[in-house]
Amino acid sequence: MTHKIAVVRGDGIGPEITDAAIEIMLRSGARLDCVQVPVGGDAETAFGEPLPYSSIQQLLSIGVVLKAPLVAPRRSGGVVVQGNGFIRRHPSINNGLRRELGSFVNVRPVRGWRGLSGAYADMDLVIMREVTEDLYSGLEYQVDDDTAEATKRITGTASRRIAEWSCLYAERFGRRKVMAVHKANVLHLTDGLFLESVRSVVAKHPGLEFEEQAIDAACYLAVKKPGMFDVVVLPNQYGDIFSDLAAALAGSLGLAPGANIGEDTAMFEAAHGAAPDIAGQGIANPIGLVLSGALLLDHIGQREAAERVRFAITELLETRRSLTPDLGGTATTREFTEAACMAMQCV
Ligand code: NAD
Repeated sequence: MTHKIAVVRGDGIGPEITDAAIEIMLRSGARLDCVQVPVGGDAETAFGEPLPYSSIQQLLSIGVVLKAPLVAPRRSGGVVVQGNGFIRRHPSINNGLRRELGSFVNVRPVRGWRGLSGAYADMDLVIMREVTEDLYSGLEYQVDDDTAEATKRITGTASRRIAEWSCLYAERFGRRKVMAVHKANVLHLTDGLFLESVRSVVAKHPGLEFEEQAIDAACYLAVKKPGMFDVVVLPNQYGDIFSDLAAALAGSLGLAPGANIGEDTAMFEAAHGAAPDIAGQGIANPIGLVLSGALLLDHIGQREAAERVRFAITELLETRRSLTPDLGGTATTREFTEAACMAMQCV
C-alpha cells in the first residue's frame, strides 16, 4: 500500500540531500506518496514567515514527515506561529516544529562502521533525548544589563514518559540496558527528579539492566569504553551535546539519522545542520537523511525497503566507495546517490 508522507526540503544543503534520500528510498521499492510542505526558507518566500500555521496543520494531518535541516535565524525573539486567534513563540524553528508536532523524544541511533570508524567500529547505541523541556524550554530573562538567566524546567511526567518509551523501545528491539545520564550531584532538584523518574520506570521492566552516569563521566566513557552504552536516556541539553559527540566518534555528524516521535506524529531528520558553507556545491553527504528515511520506512511498516536502503549504505561505507569529501572521498551527492541505487540491485 502506498503511504503518504510529508517532505520538508529544508535550507542550505537540505534540498540536495532530500532529492538524494527520496530517490534512494523510491529505488528501494518503498511505496510513497510525497507531499512537499513549505517550512523555513521556502515558507518565508511564499508566506513571509518560516513556520506558517497552514504548514503545521498539513504536517499534523499527514503525521509522518521526512525533514531536511533548517537554518535557525540568529535573531532574538525566536520563531512565531500565528493561528486562529493565538500567537505562540518558540526559541528556534527546529524547536518550534518539534513542539507544534508534539514530539517528546528525539531518537538517535549511532553505530560504528567497519573501515571507517576505527576503534568505534563496534559502537552501537541509541540516544533518547527528551525534547519538551530542560534548558531549551525558552524560559530566558534579561535581569539587568550584565545578567541573563535561563530556567531549567524538568517534570516527572515528561521524564517518566521518555523513560517508558525508552524501555519499550529497548524491549522491542532486543536491547539489554537503559542508562540514565544526568548531573544530579549538582542539580539535585531538576536532574535529581529526572534520574529518580527514569529509575522508577526501569524498575518496572525487570528484563532490562539499569545504569546511571553523570554527563561528564558519560562523555569520557563514550570515548574510552563505547561498548558499555546501549539505550541512553538524557534530558534535552545533555542529549543534544552527547549526540554530536557519539556521531563524531562513529566517523561523522553526516552519518547520524534521527526521529522525533510524538503521540500522533513521527518526524525523521538527520542530526546535522543545514551546512550553508557547502550548500549548492553538490558535495553534501546525504547519508544521515537517507538513514533517517530508512527509520521512516521501518515506522510505516515497509521493513524490506528499509533493509535494502541500509544494505546499500553499509556496502558503500564499509568498502569506502563513492563517498563524499566529508568522509574523505571525492564523489558528488549525485554520484553517491547513483552508487547507492546500484548497490541496492545486489540485494
Ligand atoms: P552544521 O551541521 O550545518 O555544519 C557543521 C559542519 O559540518 C560544517 O562544516 C558543514 O559543512 C559540515 N556538514 C554538516 N552536514 C554535512 C553533510 N551532510 N555533508 C557534508 N558536510 C556536512 O552545523 P552549523 O554550521 O552549526 O549549523 C548551520 C545551520 O544549521 C544553522 O542555522 C543551525 O541552526 C542549523 N541547524 C539545523 C539543524 C536541524 O535542522 N535539525 C540542526 C543543527 C543545526
